[in-house]
Amino acid sequence: MAEFEDSYKHRGMRKKLVKLLENKGITNHHVLNAIGKVPRHFFFDNAFVEHAYQDKAFPIGEGQTISQPYTVAFQSEYLRIKPGNKVLEIGTGSGYQACVLLELGAELHTIEYQKNLYDRTRRFLPKMGYTTNFYYGDGSKGIPSQAPFDNIIVTAGAPLVPKSLVNQLTIGGVLIIPVGDNEKQKMYRITKLSENKLKKEAFDFFSFVPLLGKEGWG
Ligand code: SAM
Repeated sequence: MAEFEDSYKHRGMRKKLVKLLENKGITNHHVLNAIGKVPRHFFFDNAFVEHAYQDKAFPIGEGQTISQPYTVAFQSEYLRIKPGNKVLEIGTGSGYQACVLLELGAELHTIEYQKNLYDRTRRFLPKMGYTTNFYYGDGSKGIPSQAPFDNIIVTAGAPLVPKSLVNQLTIGGVLIIPVGDNEKQKMYRITKLSENKLKKEAFDFFSFVPLLGKEGWG
């Protein structure tokens, strides 16, 4: 991992990234500020630091990726988080999205299915100054013991919207989830209007690694 040095140059590159995200249509200032705060280069090996502030996904080991900044910003914006909201993130991965959610004031619960990534990230984030609740397991089933959640964000591509996740939303709660095949997925936002009424909105196509587990691809 890169040394924890956030230089003038890094901050300059981050500012440019924020401008780029604004130009691509991200409007929520809290989200843009959060992206502007989290040093994304800390998640990269020194040799790859110049990739950190490009708007692209990058391999993080175990066949997984740190999501593209635009994707992180888009999901964060459409999730409609308010400070203090109880938020579930499925797919901790590198922990970058988790840091953005923490900067937005989330009371975060984040779950990862790959043991090595879970171990790596739960040790790494506190070193950066971010503390939160890490879980190891199949997030496609949510975390029933911690439910309900005000917001649920799924950062892997699902074949269908998992019923367990809808069940674990508060009334008024919001789930953002990419649904589709292994190549591309449409982003959906599900708002739980009442116990048996949902509002479902569809947005652009994105490309995520698959959501594994019982209510994912298996
Ligand atoms: N949010 C991550 C970040 O900021 O780096 C991006 C994560 S990557 C695109 C998707 C992650 O979802 C991978 O780390 C993968 O192991 C994880 N994943 C896949 N299926 C899962 C499941 N059923 N439960 C929890 N995590 C899962």
